[in-house]
Amino acid sequence: MTDMKAPVTAPLVDPFGRTIEYIRISVTDRCDFRCVYCMSEDMNFLPKRDLLTLEELDRIGSAFIARGTRKIRITGGEPLVRRDIMSLFRSLSRHLGQGLEELTVTTNGSQLAKYAGELADCGVKRVNVSLDTLDANKFRAITRWGDLGKVHEGLAAARAAGLRIKINAVALRGVNEAEIPDLIRWAHGDGMDITFIEVMPLGDIEPMRIEQFLPLSVVRARLMDQFTMVEDSYRTGGPARYVRVGETGGLVGFITPMTHNFCESCNRVRLTCTGTLYMCLGQEDAADLRGVIRSSESDGPLHTAIEAAIARKPKGHDFVIDRRANRPAVGRHMSVTGG
Ligand code: SAM
Ligand code: SF4
Repeated sequence: MTDMKAPVTAPLVDPFGRTIEYIRISVTDRCDFRCVYCMSEDMNFLPKRDLLTLEELDRIGSAFIARGTRKIRITGGEPLVRRDIMSLFRSLSRHLGQGLEELTVTTNGSQLAKYAGELADCGVKRVNVSLDTLDANKFRAITRWGDLGKVHEGLAAARAAGLRIKINAVALRGVNEAEIPDLIRWAHGDGMDITFIEVMPLGDIEPMRIEQFLPLSVVRARLMDQFTMVEDSYRTGGPARYVRVGETGGLVGFITPMTHNFCESCNRVRLTCTGTLYMCLGQEDAADLRGVIRSSESDGPLHTAIEAAIARKPKGHDFVIDRRANRPAVGRHMSVTGG
């Protein structure tokens, strides 16, 4: 039970001894794209009144920082389409160097040309930009609504602002499969790292993800024919494991939730834009922090709720590619929980 008077600073440690020091905050479930593996074409979005205000998001983020959170990633939906989003970056940036070590963002890049300079001014040093293909037509097919030219403009603006860029690409069978070596050469040629992600069974979408699933173990084995890859100890606090490519000098990350469980080192939790805290991307259990902060101006109950939630953090997800069940492992879309 939290003492409501003293400032609460005790670190958050879960039942498996993992210290929680990384929170991903989804600021909206909306997006200007409709990536086929992430959303259906006719998504129903949340009414705006259900969203936490930017001040409320700051309040919860700040409570986590008081408890030892060192890294915050702002995500969504598309975080940069939320109105006035820069005010959240600005307010959270006051914690940089005061406990918070890194404030960062995952974006589809469509709005980066507009915001890269301001992000850098807010102390953001690195951004993750999701891009699965360099072919404009394929890009349009994957994102349904996206314009690859805009993303390239965003990447150029981010580089000009001095931001380090990591490209995130979902490996998609028969879609960008053959392009993976070119994506690596392109990213490394422009000084960007690149990470590949396996499609996860989140949310009901068409076509079935089972057809899109491409195990990264297969990708990696194929890459060995073209590249010299040496395991690298580089870590960002996230789930990716890296190799250094001899021919390009750059890093390639692999996020393999399906073929290799990364839960044993999980140090993070996720907050949705409605204030629901998920202790695991792949489990349903959650804690409602919106009700808690709206019912008390004091942060004591918020800390108590956070502690109770972390005490229930599960050991891991149990994603499986279930060919018979024909349904997602978790009903929430990635854009709801925040990628
Ligand atoms: N809109 C931003 C973007 O695309 O970068 C941030 C949110 S998006 C949900 C975060 C990441 O999740 C993206 O890199 C996207 O490719 C990935 N993603 C979305 N749905 C996924 C799924 N079902 N399996 C694996 N990755 C997924
Ligand atoms: Fe939007 Fe990102 Fe989901 Fe694509 S992956 S639909 S860009 S939230």
